[in-house]
Amino acid sequence: MSGKDDTMFEEISDAWELVVGLEVHTELKTTTKLFCGCSNQFGSEPNTNICPVCLGLPGSLPVLNRHAVELSIRVGLALNCTVQASLFHRKNYFYPDMPKDYQISQYDLPLNIRGHLVLPSGHRVGIERAHMEEDTGKSSHLGGSGRISSASASLIDYNRSGVPLVEIVSAPDIHTPEQAREYVSELRSVLVAVGASDGKMEEGSLRVDANVSVRPRGSTELRTRCEIKNLNSLRSLGRAIAHEANRHIALYESGESPTQQTRFWDESGQVTGALRTKEEANDYRYFPEPDLVPLAPSQEWIQSIRDTLPELPQQRREWVMDLCGEATTNDRIETAISDELYPFLVATLRSGLSPQRVVARTSNELAAELPLPNYFSTERFVEICSLEERGELTPTQVKTLLTEATHDDAPISELIARLGLVAISADSLAEIVNSVIEESPAEWTRFVEGEQQLRGFLVGKIMKASKGKADGKVVGEMLVERVSAAKKVG
Ligand code: ZN
Ligand code: MN
Repeated sequence: MSGKDDTMFEEISDAWELVVGLEVHTELKTTTKLFCGCSNQFGSEPNTNICPVCLGLPGSLPVLNRHAVELSIRVGLALNCTVQASLFHRKNYFYPDMPKDYQISQYDLPLNIRGHLVLPSGHRVGIERAHMEEDTGKSSHLGGSGRISSASASLIDYNRSGVPLVEIVSAPDIHTPEQAREYVSELRSVLVAVGASDGKMEEGSLRVDANVSVRPRGSTELRTRCEIKNLNSLRSLGRAIAHEANRHIALYESGESPTQQTRFWDESGQVTGALRTKEEANDYRYFPEPDLVPLAPSQEWIQSIRDTLPELPQQRREWVMDLCGEATTNDRIETAISDELYPFLVATLRSGLSPQRVVARTSNELAAELPLPNYFSTERFVEICSLEERGELTPTQVKTLLTEATHDDAPISELIARLGLVAISADSLAEIVNSVIEESPAEWTRFVEGEQQLRGFLVGKIMKASKGKADGKVVGEMLVERVSAAKKVG
């Protein structure tokens, strides 16, 4: 994720500190919309999931979706927030994709306040609030660059209008582009783990706005910020933040200062551009939504939701790290604790198999076969990993078997027979080693005399002669024994 390319684009002057707060809008995984019974399904024919309520027709009245409230509370609790009695407000502004000319949102009394999220790196980011609101419709601008300024016509799809959202506002605790990506990625895992979101950034289920400013390193002031709207990939997020920070630094260093603005990220030009001068809260003329009663979840309800929270990514990470110790890399653990793979990891770990080995099999071989077919059960994975643990199959054979077992639902024993996977006996392996040494006397002598680079040559010949049935590790150990034997004789 943070390859050479990305960091090259993300360098920021040592004299200045980056200050970023992120606002993440997440669409909730409900069956219906926030205030009406229309379907909340992505990808339907435009303007088919609509009714008088989500079209904002006069006389229609909103009815709050209980499941959306429950999911919002789950998000708040998972982010260590306090859940409080809250109020819906009307946020008034004109935009064609919002037919009522106001958005029902929460203002000074949001549902969830004051939480935090600890990132895999250990950095802690404060969460100021996580409030409920409805989504707007979606406009598509035809012709030109896809922006309204160069469009020849615009189309509007109201299917998204009224879809339930939670907006999660972080404190300005993020100080590098990498941290911003880490925060969004961890937040996404939390939202998916609690069942609130499908986490699909490419479908707009997770949309990120970044508030960016800079300050001289060492100072604690907050300078003028610009908000970059709708960053829809982790890569754009990092680059947009770095570009914006460098723009501010250049302005300050030439004696000017940035203006508070809403900006967009231009993916093709890799620059940010001005959209509009930032609205203040009073531009929105917020007032309490008269058609909805205050939302005050009871302590019993909050507690019952807390009781059903699943294990969160941070808890998974700590458990697996404890089991594996230093031997396993963080990248491997991150892959193995992802939602698709975690059940398989848990099953193998609970069966008492070696943690390092099963984390390796899960994060490498099993991850390569995603998405897994339904017949590939956790029992099937445990059975395969046990064969390696008991030394009945070599790592190479297990990898072959795993690929086959995720493409063919036959019983494991049948697949083993069909593939001819039998671990080689110690005696026949010894014979192969002898014959390879005999065939390459010059290389063998140089290896015994200390030319370590010949190890690969010899192991390769032995593996080939065994038709891949030998265990590379065992072969390596045999070669070490042979070398010390040869030195004693010599
Ligand atoms: Zn509707
Ligand atoms: Mn919002």
